[in-house]
This record gives sequence, structure tokens and C-alpha cells, in this order.
Amino acid sequence: MIIDIHGHYTTAPKALEAWRNQQIAGIKDPSAKPRVADLKISDDELRETIESNQLRLMKQRGSDLTLFSPRASFMAHHIGDFEVSATWAAICNELCYRVSQLFPDHFIPAAMLPQSPGVAPETCIPELVKCVEQYGNVAINLNPDPSGGHWTSPPLTDRHWYPIYEKMVEYDIPAMVHVSTSCNACFHTTGAHYINADTTAFMQLLQGDLFKDFPELKFVIPHGGGAAPYHWGRYRGLAQELKKPLLSEHLLNNVFFDTCVYHQPGIDVLTKVIPVKNILFASEMIGAVRGIDPETGFNYDDTKRYIEASTQLTADEKHAIYEGNARRVYPRLDAQLKAKGL
Ligand SMILES: [Zn+2]
Repeated sequence: MIIDIHGHYTTAPKALEAWRNQQIAGIKDPSAKPRVADLKISDDELRETIESNQLRLMKQRGSDLTLFSPRASFMAHHIGDFEVSATWAAICNELCYRVSQLFPDHFIPAAMLPQSPGVAPETCIPELVKCVEQYGNVAINLNPDPSGGHWTSPPLTDRHWYPIYEKMVEYDIPAMVHVSTSCNACFHTTGAHYINADTTAFMQLLQGDLFKDFPELKFVIPHGGGAAPYHWGRYRGLAQELKKPLLSEHLLNNVFFDTCVYHQPGIDVLTKVIPVKNILFASEMIGAVRGIDPETGFNYDDTKRYIEASTQLTADEKHAIYEGNARRVYPRLDAQLKAKGL
């Protein structure tokens, strides 16, 4: 089985975006504020957007199951207050849940949280509980920077975040560390802000001792771990300077990287530098980079090709990246698959 642990509902019906625009208009002009019930999306519309997009490509490229969360750039936690984020997160999470109900063999939901800048993270817990207990979500996306590129929250190792971590440990769910749209003109959303955030999260975890407090806590750092694998020597050296244990003990029981790296040399570096047990298959399609690479003739985000073409990985290692590691890192996913006899 090939499990893609990083997919977003980037192809949701246009009515969703229209509703969101109304919601944003309603922040300044309360008379424009839409009701949740104003958004009407039928099952047929959901089916159509999935069958002609994600599911079509999954079948074409040969992946079986996608962990499916709301569109990351649309989370936009910096917009409005907590109430705005809470309403928006509930709508987006419900849509991913509905997709998972319509295509139970192909999609399992992961939740976005109703984060808001300056608001205590524990306010997100009711949505998290609903998503796990009622919607069968097996993971969350945690935004380390709800301000959208201004980094006004404390580092991930700060006690500020602990209420979320306590719930993650209780439910045995990992968090993908995932920022959203940048509202800082210095940082392009997917080209700079995403990769910066991946690298920043890794360094925050390196500087701290979070996993002494939470030995069971698990983070997935997407987009191949940002710059961390490429600069592994720098991070090993910094850990040494900071009198931290070896990275293999300090971080690699708790931190995992996905394969959303869009060329063969990048995947080769990732799989050479990072232990296979810490690598999870993912494509993040249909996402930031949708074009065809003229050097290969295939889509940049067709990441399975790079794993297949790797000359370093054995068949067992490829299996671990495709399936085995995901079952270990996402125990609730494994339980759902086992309940289906898989
Ligand atoms: Zn993503």
C-alpha cells in the first residue's frame, strides 16, 4: 500500500472560496457576514472535485491512500479573530471529513486548527477533539506562526503550546508543522515561508528539550524538512555546540520528514542523510508546484517517481517509506486500516 501523508483539499468547490471572501468582508462590515448555513456544497460536487483531480492522479501515479487536510494556504490564521478562525476551521474540516466518507478507501482526514495570533492554543482543543472523536482524523496540522510571516508566537518548545501537545499525546496523533499564507511581502508563501518554517521548526526543536517533557510527541516536518537535511552537518555541529545529545537521540525518535521534494537529487540527499525510519512518503499534490518538469517530462510533484528511481533504497526501505513508517507514526491510521483488514 502506498500512503501519501500530505494532501490538501486544494480543489474544493468555488463556493467555499466565495463564502470565505464573504466572511472576510464581514470582519469590517458585520452586515456582510455570512451564516454557516449559507454555504451549500452537495456530495456530487465534492465527488466531482476529487474524482477529476486528486483521485485521478492517485490512480495514474499509483498511490492508494491520502491523508487529507484543508488547503494550507487558505487556513490564513492571521485573518480576523478566534471566532473567524473557529468558524472557518470547522467548515474546512467538515469538508475533508465528508470527502473521507465519500471515498473511505482513499482519503483519511487530518485537521486544521482554529489558531489565531495572540490567542492561547488551548482554544483549539474543542475542534481537535471533535475532529478526532467524531470525524476520525488521525493527525493535525499545527501552524507555528499564525501571524502569517511575522513570527509573533513563542517557539514550539515553549509551554505556550503544551496544551496542544498534551492532547496529541493523549490521542496518539502526530502534528504536521505547517504554516499558511504569508502576509509578509518578504516571504513568498510556498517558496520562502513554507520552507523557512520547516527549517525554523527543526531548529527550535534542536535548541530546546521538548521531547524530555513529551517523549511520545511526534512532529512531521513537511517539504522534505526544509533546509535541515541539506545542512545536516550544520545542525549536528550546532547540537554539539549547544551540548545537546546526538540528533539521532535528541530529535529522531520524534521528528519525521516527508518526501515533498520535487527533484531526484533532493530526494537522494534526503534518503542518504536522514534515516529511512524518519522518512514518510508524500506528494502534496495538487499543491504549490503543479507544472511539468521539462527535464523529465513528468510533474514535479509526482514524487513516487523519485523514490522508485532511487538507487540507494532497498525494496524494504521503499516499503517503509511508502507504508510502514506511516503506520508507526500515525497509530490511528494504522488502527483504521487494521479495522478494514488492511
Ligand atoms: Zn502542505
